[in-house]
Formats: sequence, C-alpha cells, structure tokens
Amino acid sequence: MYLTKPDLVRHDREAVWHAFTQMAEYEPLIIERAEGCTLIDIDGNRFLDGVSSLWCNVHGHGHPRINAAIREQLDRVAHVTSLGVSNPPAIALAARLIELSPPGLNHVFYASDGASAVEAALKMAFQYWRQCGNPQPDKSLYVAYEEAYHGDTIGSVSVGGVAHFHAIYQPLLFPTLRLPAPDMYRLPPGVTASNACGHYLNQLEQVLAEKHQQIAALVIEPSLQGAAGMIMHPPGYLRGARELTRKYDVLMIADEITVGMGRLGSLFACEQEGVSPDLLCLGKGLTGGYLPMSATLATTDIWNAFLGKYADLRTFFHGHTYGGNPLAASAALANLAVFDEEQTLAKLPEKMARMQANLAPLAEHPHVGDVRQRGMIAAVELVRNKETKEPYEWEERRGIIACRRAMNDGVWLRPLGNVVYLMPPLTISLEEIDRLCDALIEGVKHATANP
Ligand SMILES: *Cc1c(COP(=O)(O)O)cnc(C)c1O
Repeated sequence: MYLTKPDLVRHDREAVWHAFTQMAEYEPLIIERAEGCTLIDIDGNRFLDGVSSLWCNVHGHGHPRINAAIREQLDRVAHVTSLGVSNPPAIALAARLIELSPPGLNHVFYASDGASAVEAALKMAFQYWRQCGNPQPDKSLYVAYEEAYHGDTIGSVSVGGVAHFHAIYQPLLFPTLRLPAPDMYRLPPGVTASNACGHYLNQLEQVLAEKHQQIAALVIEPSLQGAAGMIMHPPGYLRGARELTRKYDVLMIADEITVGMGRLGSLFACEQEGVSPDLLCLGKGLTGGYLPMSATLATTDIWNAFLGKYADLRTFFHGHTYGGNPLAASAALANLAVFDEEQTLAKLPEKMARMQANLAPLAEHPHVGDVRQRGMIAAVELVRNKETKEPYEWEERRGIIACRRAMNDGVWLRPLGNVVYLMPPLTISLEEIDRLCDALIEGVKHATANP
C-alpha cells in the first residue's frame, strides 16, 4: 500500500501516536529518505540533521558499509531468539564490545531499547546483592540525580528525575535516593567552578555513608545529563563517584546510552576519567542509529552471582524478544568497523573546535546564559536574565521557536526546554557544522527578540 501525500499527512496526524508529542498540535514532518547528514521529506525539502535523529546516528544516514552489513545478514537470517540460542553477529559483537569497553566489563546482555538496558542493569544489581558471595538483601535502593533521564519504562522512570515528564507517574514508582544534579552552570550559593567537584562529591558521600547498607547502586549518566538539557558535570566527578561507590560497596551503573559511541570524543565517556563501572548501558548509537539494539555490560563478579544449577533459581529471569537480533548486531559491528576504517574519532577534535569557535560569540548575547560543549555535543541555554540565570517560563517555548526558525535555514533541531543544542552525526563536515551553527544562532536571536 502506498499512500498519496495528503493521505500520509492525514493518517500521520490521526493514526500515528508520536513519542513526546502533543498530538493536538502536531504538524507532520515526514522524512522519506536521508543521505549522510541530510534528511529529505516527502516534498523534497532537505534538512541538515542537527540532532543525529535523536542522538543515535553516528556515521550519517545510508552509509554503504552499514547498509551492506544489514543486507548481507538479511540473506542469512533476520531473527534468532536469545533465549538459550545464539547467532554469529551477536557473539562477535559481544566479543568486540568487551575488547573496546573499559576493563572489567566481560559479559553482554542484549535488549532493544535504552530503557530496557537500564531496566536490566537495575534488576541485575538488585539480584546481585541477593545472590553474591556475601549476600546483602537489604540493598534495595538506588541513588540517582535530579533531572536524570534513563528512559520511559517504570523502572527507568523511577531512577529518572525530569519532573515535567515523570511527576504524574509518581505513585507507580519505587523510592529512589535523589541527589542534586552536579551542574556546572547553576552552582549552589557559595560554590565556584573550582570547588564544585568536591562539593557535589561530598553530597554523594553523605548519602552513601549514611545509607550504603540499603543502597544497591548509583545510577549515573557519565559526564553529561542529556535530556536534562545537556547539564555538564565537573571534570573529575565521575572518577570521584567511582571511588566512593567502591569505598561504600555500592555498584555503579553507567548509562552511556547518549554519551557512548564516540559522542564525547572517545568511544566511551567513562574512558575519559579512567573509570570502569560495574554495569554499563549502551543504546542509541550502538547500531550507528540504524536498528534498535541496546546492551548491558557487566563485570565477571556480577555474572558469577548468577551462575549455579538450574534448580538454584539464580538465573537472570529477564529477556526481550528481539534482544541480540542478528540484523541489529550486524549493523552494530559495521558501525564499530567504520570507526576504525574512517578514523572517526581522530577527526573529531577539529570538528569540536569548529563548533566551539562558531558558537563562542553567543556567550555575549544578553539572553544566552551559557554556551557549553563536551565533545560533539554543544548546548546554548536561553535565559530571561543573564545575571540571575532566571529561566524563561517553559510555556513561552523559546527553544521551540528557535528550532522552528532553524528549519527556514534547512536545519532540523529539537530543543530541550530553553536549551537549544547541536549533536550532529560524527561524520558531519566542517561546512555542515558552519551551517548548523549559523542556523542555531539565527534561531536564538529570533527566539529572544521579544521580551
Ligand atoms: C535515550 C536515553 C535512554 C532511553 O533510551 P530509549 O532507547 O529511548 O529507551 C536512556 N538513558 C539515556 C541517558 C538516554 O539518553
């Protein structure tokens, strides 16, 4: 069945229930194809993909290497269950991820979405404390951050902290110990950039010191809290948090679903601070943004706690139908191969510098509170008052207005409240970066023109 354009628009409005979208106000944008960093809609309009198709595209759309890997696998088998059965691409991918990831992570559990990888990590941590050599069945709590985002299933929402999205589900959630986000822009009174790391680590230590006997794990987005509005943690915080979790015998779950796969300039964000978590969640860019796949990597210590005889009931009783799907695993293997073949990471410093130089003048703008960047993620925060950092009311939709304006310049962006950001595919060219930055700057000027 092929629909005419008017029918596509009508059914898209009425039949498709879009994620995080107010359907009463939805204006269809229907992408028919894409080439490299450019999306092309059904009317032939071209938009530079400034947000990597929601944080997952890595080497551009339609990359011949990744497309070929999927096609080749398709002719062998499209799906094999991971319940007691395996397939070559899923095996090869696990071996490769273990090779590349921080030391100590030697076992890979597959699912399809980021949220499911987080759910698996939460349950593994919980079960670990009940089954490990020195069982501590009181360890049932998780420490997480305000404004954290770990996905939209009930477990991942329980450790998430985006009030806007999550408040209504409060009665359904399990209790979580909540720390303020280690935010480098909105620092608490008396705290400066130079002592912020120590300040936030003290807060973490207080919770761990007091409650570690009840705490199963700390759940953290390394370095940068994405959905919170690209909140950046102080350098050194992640390493400090790792040391504290070891000191207090609490597991560390690192959610690298956004910051992994090269986004911060290294393949894994944890690498930048020499950190090995106990559990590491990957998703989004794992397949280069081609097919749904996520993974939870675990240490051998955790893995061992689940070994035993069938009748011991120590098994991880958890699984997702498409976990370890061979098409997705083939895409992920090709995605990792392209990192080597095209020396993707080695080319990033020049691109990061270009983004930084282009956006730097915005720091002088009277309604830009902060211009911040880590790796290939750059964010501009719009504020009503630059001195006090007073935000614009969210209802004013300043971010949305800025991004709508960018579409006039053929650039597709999506805001996070008052934060407008760039997270382009890593293959983006310098010329394309210039276009993205110009459109963002015009958008910011336009959105802040009225008081
Ligand atoms: C997107 C995201 C998730 C959830 O991934 P889904 O594939 O959307 O379920 C979890 N954690 C972080 C940090 C994310 O950015």
